[in-house]
Amino acid sequence: MRIVFIGPPGAGKGTQAERLVETYHMAHLSTGDMLRAARDAKTEVGQKAEKYMSAGELVPDDIIVAIIAERLRQNDCRDGYLLDGFPRTIAQAEALDKMLAEQGTPLDVVLELKVPEEELFRRLAGRGRADDTPEVIRQRLVAYRKQTEPLLEYYGRCGLLKSIDGLGAVEEIFDRAQTVLDRLD
Ligand code: ADP
Repeated sequence: MRIVFIGPPGAGKGTQAERLVETYHMAHLSTGDMLRAARDAKTEVGQKAEKYMSAGELVPDDIIVAIIAERLRQNDCRDGYLLDGFPRTIAQAEALDKMLAEQGTPLDVVLELKVPEEELFRRLAGRGRADDTPEVIRQRLVAYRKQTEPLLEYYGRCGLLKSIDGLGAVEEIFDRAQTVLDRLD
């Protein structure tokens, strides 16, 4: 199964993503994790990405698209994957469409985890990651609203979008996700 998992920062995507990839045997492609690893290893890409990440802004599309293009070529992606944190802009979604069309491997579903903004702020403020200061949190939420939310319409138009409620217990939310995925034909 090839899935795009979409949702605002603080929605709990990481937690659900881990369970989903384990249950459905998919590779977990988290661009946030990849960028943090690159930043910590001080690679060229990591150093370029650092200033955007620490400001809560999106890393430029060309950087992230190149990372994903390379990652999708690796063997463990052959049997399916869950994209977590990518695409985040329309340009990224178009680049992904193009790659997948060339390979003849279309997406099966775009799963949205929906959480109201006041709840996100509350959760993020309590998390304490280095890029979780109030100003950076606000900036990440703005980036989501402006740059990523338009993807919901983009994927809605082609019939790929399925949304689930991200409020409730981890187990409940996981059940909702499973219900959606198990109903795909
Ligand atoms: P969040 O916790 O906000 O959901 P992630 O852990 O997915 O964020 O990513 C952390 C940071 O990495 C983002 O704030 C952004 O700067 C950068 N990033 C991750 N994925 C992308 C992407 N697809 N396009 C641009 N920037 C990205």
